[in-house]
Amino acid sequence: MYKKKPFYLILIIFLGLGCQPNGVEMNPFLIDYDTPYQIPPFEKIKVSHYEPAFEEGMKQHLSEIESIANNNEEETFKNTIVELERTGKLLDKVSRVFFNLLGANTNDEMDLLASKISPILSSHYDKISLNEKLFKRVKTIHDQRNDLDLTTEQMRLLTETHKSFVRSGALLSEESMEKLKEINKKLSSLSIDFDQNVLKETNEGYSLIIENKEELDGLPQDIIDQAYELAKSIGEEGKWVFKPTRVSMYPFLTYSTKRNLREKLYKSYINRADNNNEKDNKKIIEEMVSLRIKKANLFGFDTYAEYVLENTMAKTTQRVDDLLDVVWEPGLKRAKKEVQEMQELIQEEGSNFKLAAWDWWHYAEKIRKQKYDFSEEDIKPYFSEDNVLKGAFDVANKLFGISFQERSDLPIYRDNVRTFEVLDENQEVMGIFYTDYTVRPNKGGGAWMNSFISQSNFDGKQIPIIANTCNFPPPDKNGISLLSFEQVETLFHEFGHALHGLLSDVEYPSLSGTSVSRDFVELPSQLMENWGRHPDVIKTYAKHYQTGESIPDELVAKISKASAFNQGFATTEYVAASYLDMAWHTIKEPVEDAASFEESVLNEIGLIPEVETRYRSTYFGHIFAGGYATGYYSYLWTEVLEADAFEPFKENGIFDQETSSNLRKYIYSTGNSDDLMTQYIRYRGAEPKIEPLLEKRGLDEF
Ligand SMILES: [Zn+2]
Repeated sequence: MYKKKPFYLILIIFLGLGCQPNGVEMNPFLIDYDTPYQIPPFEKIKVSHYEPAFEEGMKQHLSEIESIANNNEEETFKNTIVELERTGKLLDKVSRVFFNLLGANTNDEMDLLASKISPILSSHYDKISLNEKLFKRVKTIHDQRNDLDLTTEQMRLLTETHKSFVRSGALLSEESMEKLKEINKKLSSLSIDFDQNVLKETNEGYSLIIENKEELDGLPQDIIDQAYELAKSIGEEGKWVFKPTRVSMYPFLTYSTKRNLREKLYKSYINRADNNNEKDNKKIIEEMVSLRIKKANLFGFDTYAEYVLENTMAKTTQRVDDLLDVVWEPGLKRAKKEVQEMQELIQEEGSNFKLAAWDWWHYAEKIRKQKYDFSEEDIKPYFSEDNVLKGAFDVANKLFGISFQERSDLPIYRDNVRTFEVLDENQEVMGIFYTDYTVRPNKGGGAWMNSFISQSNFDGKQIPIIANTCNFPPPDKNGISLLSFEQVETLFHEFGHALHGLLSDVEYPSLSGTSVSRDFVELPSQLMENWGRHPDVIKTYAKHYQTGESIPDELVAKISKASAFNQGFATTEYVAASYLDMAWHTIKEPVEDAASFEESVLNEIGLIPEVETRYRSTYFGHIFAGGYATGYYSYLWTEVLEADAFEPFKENGIFDQETSSNLRKYIYSTGNSDDLMTQYIRYRGAEPKIEPLLEKRGLDEF
């Protein structure tokens, strides 16, 4: 996953130099950072620093905007569009630190401030995008755009800036504008509430507490140890605790032989924020969806989906539906076949219950062991987090000539966070890379990339500072964290996003790196997974954490062979969630009962009871708290791009230098500086085809 900036930043950069009066402690945001590479001085930042910095940042931002809007000179590209790129630097500086740490390392105080500040920020940005004088200047320049002799990137900056004003409501009547502001404010605070409910339900809600050793039956020792440590950390010394998070639940579902406990834990997971208590998200969803319809209507669209898709590669709901339909049917057929196989196994074992959703991981693992003769536990010792990361660095080196050097003296915001200098071909520092991999209760679920500073070549060269945040198992007493193969893929995935930020080479910050549309942004990340799982690459980094021995060829072959394993399940749970997202945003009237709406959508597509949608609505943070509304399909869309984009590497060799140099030139370094399909065609010579994806998922035979 990639987390977008918390709100739509059309405007970045310019500095906020400010000093506190004598005797008052310096607010690190209000002075120039005295750190290397402009890294935020994390050790000096206190929660109390954020709010005054936000306030000062907004004040400065508005005054910068006013001086552009009120400039007496005739509007030009330079004095308006370029000048906008220089505004809001202080606000950007504090926002990025605050929201990144809110996701990665939050506390009650920060949660509280997030609820308070989000609607304020939302109306702040409304003030700018609805500034009539400013928009008039932008529009005049946009009207003249073909006579201005602009470079491609300048043209892109102009059209994107203009578009973001229009999409924010600049062409609306005064009355509609007022309504829009109100809606945006409400939506922003509702999405914060949604997120906090999910986090609380996950961390403070149900825990599976095991007191009797017998109930650990089937679990591998490292999983037992982790559960023991987790229990200790919450004051349940001597017991074992499992939480409704993927990192804690999946191993339990996979290995536990206790069917009733699997059911309890699984149900607690899928019922998060759907327990009819004060942390229930159903009313929030109903309200958000209704507000989104109103918002779309203001812009002349019937549905929110139409409003969102206008600004993507896919463009229309029809194209999204077509894609989902092509994959859904073979995926579902395959999932049914997988159910059948597992049901047979259950019978063979002498049981006679019907496979349920909470049994899936357990029997899938058995089938895998039977069919491919290895288990997750066999391969984990070869995938220590450190070795996998080295493997990812090595891939980046072979493809793009860049290298990573660990530093131990750069500011970090807590333990287990690592920092690296990224060096270009000439050994010059071109970026900084942070990893924050360890799971902990005050971190949001899943994995993501974000940036503390984006790259730009504007007003001097600004190197990017990029972070990857994941939820990998905590290191054992020797500092080793062993990853499942899914986590290996996650590491490569997020590293792909990081490369998109690090290799960015554009002029203007607002077009930098991952500032592309939702249905393109997952291309660089998903593409990187291809190297992570390639047998030739695995062999270079998968070394036994104790003996240092390379992974046996035989095991690598098994991993590769197993890659199409369970794809019916993976495809079905994902596409079901995508349909759900589309359903929530293609309605024209509000929904009165979120629960029955969800149920009817999933029934209509024919989802089988053995598979649950990847996200149920009440914890579908992507679409209700993360900016992926009508965007969850993007992963599949970009998987089409990604499978197609990897083809030339299959043909020419996985480290073919000409192909990788084109890849860097047209995909990884170009940010949003030109039309994205055009960029893709430059790289590949044609629009993407869907066949490589079907083949990759093993769905081509259906
Ligand atoms: Zn991603």
